Amino acid sequence: MITGQNYIGSRRSAEGSVTYRTINPKLNTENKWECTEATKNEIDEATRLASQAFKTFRKSSPEERAAFLDAIADEIENLGDELIEVYCQESGLPQGRAQGERGRTMFQLRSFAEMLRKGNWMETAIDLAIPDREPMPKPDLRKTYIPLGPVVVFGSSNFPLAYSTAGGDTASALAAGCPVIVKSHPMHAGTGELVASAIIKAAEKTGMPNGVFSNLNSKGIEVGIQLVNDPKVKAVGFTGSIRGGRALYDIANQRPEPIPVFAEMGSINPVVISQGALESKGDSWADTYAGSITLGTGQFCTNPGLILAVDSPELDVFASRLAAKIVEIDPMCMLHPNIKRAYSNLKTEVTEQAGVTMLSNEVPTDGNFADQAVATVNGASFLENPKLHQEVFGPFSIIVKCENKEQLLKIIEGLEGQLTGTILAEDSEIPSLTDVVDELQHRVGRIIFNGVPTGVEVCPAMNHGGPYPSSTDSRFTAVGLHSIKRWIRPISYQDFPMELLPNELKNA
Ligand code: NAP
Repeated sequence: MITGQNYIGSRRSAEGSVTYRTINPKLNTENKWECTEATKNEIDEATRLASQAFKTFRKSSPEERAAFLDAIADEIENLGDELIEVYCQESGLPQGRAQGERGRTMFQLRSFAEMLRKGNWMETAIDLAIPDREPMPKPDLRKTYIPLGPVVVFGSSNFPLAYSTAGGDTASALAAGCPVIVKSHPMHAGTGELVASAIIKAAEKTGMPNGVFSNLNSKGIEVGIQLVNDPKVKAVGFTGSIRGGRALYDIANQRPEPIPVFAEMGSINPVVISQGALESKGDSWADTYAGSITLGTGQFCTNPGLILAVDSPELDVFASRLAAKIVEIDPMCMLHPNIKRAYSNLKTEVTEQAGVTMLSNEVPTDGNFADQAVATVNGASFLENPKLHQEVFGPFSIIVKCENKEQLLKIIEGLEGQLTGTILAEDSEIPSLTDVVDELQHRVGRIIFNGVPTGVEVCPAMNHGGPYPSSTDSRFTAVGLHSIKRWIRPISYQDFPMELLPNELKNA
């Protein structure tokens, strides 16, 4: 049952007077549970407990943390249908998506548990001493990794489960040995509370210290700002807008002790289509991309928002088919009235720019349902107008008709950092793609050949991040097992007695 209270460690608490309700975007009505924003004192108590819990949690064995993560997955499963119902009521997303995302969330938790048990994730190094080295003896040096300390997680609006309360950031931080304080997303606070209750149960069952996890409600930005400014917080994970991520990044850098903010933010995910692909598979790529652009109502960070090709009659055929196919898909509900408003405003702003033509017919929609659309513009207009480079979060894509390959390469070179870049081409064209690959790989974190960017696999080889502003630190991934590296730091032990070394560095 949802109480609307915060979790300050394992204690439920609602001392404050600021309350709010989440919205059912399909019905455009408020949900019945009332949430209470965390007070300054409650936030202080959560960070104090996290800091205290860190002293024990950092000493937990990988097996103990693995058992904790597995127990969280089990307890999420035990939440049963209530979790799915609340998820749908707070997000407007369909039941199948809720079930799929719950499965992904449990899979992520169990994957980190498995990684901890295998014990091969730390890149430890041992350099034995050479006492008789000339002219100086070489010391015994051994390097391992230790957790940073309490982490604040800002869950995303577009993945209420997989990238929120017990999502990728939380799972990876707990796996690393860092206590987590979640700043609950106000659009799905009920879903967040249910998942938080599962984490607290799992912590109690597996003997984790009180404060290893807290969940704080917020109606506005103040709770997050206090958390990021708190000296006991040592790192931040964020998924959302460039504006929000950048604001938190700046706050973290202005602290007396700056801390890392791993923010995964906006991206328009360019797709380059070759002439060969347009000629031989233009129709099927148009159909595939109509599905990719509208998947999840276009509310994916990997949504293909920009399609680039050299102008040709085949590109016109592709563009017309994509525009026709996209409007055949039933409009779907967006996550929140604010997201719908932002989508409508940005789409209008982009399509009103000089040289932009709307290709798709208008889709009649009600309430928070999104009218999917495709527009087109020529390469010169795109190059000179930065407003056309911004993310339109929703089912919208703009096709840029480039004059020639040189202009296409210039456009890629001028793009801001992106999560993904995609190339659609025929095998016979592969030798001529080197320059496109070279430009594209320096603007993106993941490069895809003959596929769609939507769909992010959870595995060690996945990189989900990219040059700014798609993320604040392109050296780390936010998805997949290597995301644990965001929450640890290296430490070297020099000439250390064997008894005092961490287990992974001992000779035995
Ligand atoms: P958001 O506005 O960036 O908010 C995300 C979280 O950060 C919220 O919990 C919010 O707290 C907090 N926050 C935002 N600005 C802050 C600030 N200045 N100081 C402290 N905390 C701050 O993202 P959203 O609410 O999820 O969606 C809004 C827009 O973000 C979307 O329309 C879309 O354009 C973009 N978005 C992009 C992606 C992507 O993957 N590319 C994903 C999600 C959203 P409060 O809500 O409590 O204020």
